Amino acid sequence: MTNQSKSAIIRDDKWLLSRLDYLWDKYFPDIPQNNKVFIKFGRFAKYRLGSIRLDRKSKASTVTITLMFKDPKIPSEVIDHTIGHELVHYAHGFSSTHPKLHKYPHAGGVVGMEMKQRGMEYLHKSYKTWIKIYRQSLRRKYGW
Ligand SMILES: [Zn+2]
Repeated sequence: MTNQSKSAIIRDDKWLLSRLDYLWDKYFPDIPQNNKVFIKFGRFAKYRLGSIRLDRKSKASTVTITLMFKDPKIPSEVIDHTIGHELVHYAHGFSSTHPKLHKYPHAGGVVGMEMKQRGMEYLHKSYKTWIKIYRQSLRRKYGW
C-alpha cells in the first residue's frame, strides 16, 4: 500500500464497522451475532476509549469508540484492540444477549486472557506501547 492510499482511508463509522467485521470473522467465529450490533464514534473521551451498551428495549448492542481515534496518527491496532476488548465483553454476555460468563466484566483479568487465547496478543502489544506514550503526554499536558 502506498502512503497516499494509506492516508486516503477515512476513519468514519463505516470504517469502524469494517474493523468490527474483520475482527469478528477472524477471532470470534464461534460467537454468533444473535442481536443487532452497531458501532460508532462517540464523543472525544480522553480516558474511556471504548464501551459497549445493550439497549433493553431494542435488544441491540452498541459499541462506542472515542472520537480521539479518528486521528490517523494513532495506530489502527490500537483501535482494533479497543474493538476486540468490547467484543470480549459481548462474548462474555456483558451488554449482549449471550449468557453471562462472569460476575464482573473485568473479573481477574478475563478480558486480556481471552484476547490472548484468541490470538490478539499482538494488538495488546501495540496498545501497551501506545498507551505508555499517551499517558506521558497527558501527564505533561495536565501535570499529574
Ligand atoms: Zn472493558
